[in-house]
Amino acid sequence: MERTLSIIKPDAVRAGHIGEIIATFEKNNIRIVAMKMVHLDPKGAEGFYAVHRERPFFGELTAFMCEGPVVVMVLEGDNVIARNRELMGATNPADAAEGTLRKRFASSLQNNAVHGSDAPETAAFEIGYFFNALEIAG
Ligand code: GDP
Repeated sequence: MERTLSIIKPDAVRAGHIGEIIATFEKNNIRIVAMKMVHLDPKGAEGFYAVHRERPFFGELTAFMCEGPVVVMVLEGDNVIARNRELMGATNPADAAEGTLRKRFASSLQNNAVHGSDAPETAAFEIGYFFNALEIAG
């Protein structure tokens, strides 16, 4: 059993897609074991995306993540890191496969609706960034 961190980004929250995104996880047999809505401030967004701090788009990306509330979830299931990445689709919605969350809901490379951890180490860091052990259902 594996866990991963999912974020419904400000663009998708603003556009009213929370329900459809959560329904997609549930229909695909992925369990939500923790969930909350938060409005990140710049420090919070910069800490979360610290691995990207050298990238030219770091400032734009962290500003975007602070534009409005996000929904943060811990997802659980077999092979859930890879399965969530598949459901999300390619980073750029122009390249995302039909039916993926980013194809359905993303509007640009940056405003791409969802985040999902990309490896067990990043999942552990990202889950711990938002949730303590008592906030995650067993
Ligand atoms: P992910 O793992 O698919 O989310 O993609 P990355 O780890 O490569 O990038 C992290 C996030 O940064 C993406 O989900 C986008 O929101 C954003 N991003 C990626 N590339 C670019 C870019 O070239 N410009 C901007 N403004 N944002 C980007």
